Amino acid sequence: TLYMRHDKNVYDWSSEEEEPDGRARPVQVLLVKDDHTFELDEAALSRILLAEEVRDREVVAISVAGAFRKGKSFLMDFMLRYMYNHASETWLGDADAPLTGFSWRGGSERETTGIQIWSEVFLVDKPDGRKVAVLLMDTQGTFDSQSTLRDSATVFALSTMISSMQVYNISQNVQEDDLQHLQLFTEYGRLAMEETFLKPFQSMIFLVRDWSFPYEFPYGQEGGMKFLEKRLKISENQHEELQNVRKHIHSCFTNISCFLMPHPGLKVATNPLFDGRITEIDGDFLNNLKVLVPWLLSPRNIDVKEINGSKITCRGLVEYFKAYIKIYQG
Ligand code: GDP
Ligand code: MG
Repeated sequence: TLYMRHDKNVYDWSSEEEEPDGRARPVQVLLVKDDHTFELDEAALSRILLAEEVRDREVVAISVAGAFRKGKSFLMDFMLRYMYNHASETWLGDADAPLTGFSWRGGSERETTGIQIWSEVFLVDKPDGRKVAVLLMDTQGTFDSQSTLRDSATVFALSTMISSMQVYNISQNVQEDDLQHLQLFTEYGRLAMEETFLKPFQSMIFLVRDWSFPYEFPYGQEGGMKFLEKRLKISENQHEELQNVRKHIHSCFTNISCFLMPHPGLKVATNPLFDGRITEIDGDFLNNLKVLVPWLLSPRNIDVKEINGSKITCRGLVEYFKAYIKIYQG
């Protein structure tokens, strides 16, 4: 098999915040408190990333970032299905099965700005024979006031710094706002990182949800790239500020791409009783999901996290996480 389920017995589930049944779940490792201070749950981070089987493995850190209520958890639950079904052809699974994972706690999910990671790290065999550890992160923030924008920018910067792939989940279009937010995140991130001749971050994927102009730019990655090229194009007659945002984004990431996703259908978007079963999701959405998820997560496509050109292990990632958070704690 390509994917090995991580043995859960290595975790210490005795901690009070863990599920008593030992099931994998999202764990809040970084939290922004009401007074705008940051709290890193070092114990939880260590329990997950310093488990014996994974700590010395090179790490692939995948973050999905964006505002609340934009379908991040919904997508991440499908990413988990893909991982748990070992990237098999039939990874989408049972058509009537409710979706579980990041949204598994349903309505009790607090809307806290911060980073959650999946408590189970997946061991994956790359085609070249290397076994790597795959970590999934959910990064969320709010953008409605000056102070929440600043908090969110910091959290996004941190997740961009510690991930090998940042999936920027946005709704309907790539707005100038989205680009400005991205510039702010990466500016924060760049300030914190050492001077290097390499681009500071790895892959950035603009994931546009509810794309509604497929006749202009088709769904998927190719349409996305053409759309993004147009959106990120720098031209003489653009306002200087618009030019700078674009130059900045290009200078920060080694790879930039885009994927246009269709709307999942009204049951998903509006029915409070919808439990995630695929029989109630639009066919167009599912067809694109079948392309998107393997494109993001297939063993051949995942990249190990690198910092200043060196590959990082799970253990190394914990150290970087701690060091970076100190910078923002001041
Ligand atoms: P999160 O806060 O970003 O994690 O968002 P959730 O995944 O919890 O989804 C919020 C709501 O949007 C739920 O009711 C989902 O069923 C719905 N949803 C999920 N994906 C999509 C999508 O692609 N488009 C729309 N319009 N709604 C979605
Ligand atoms: Mg969520």
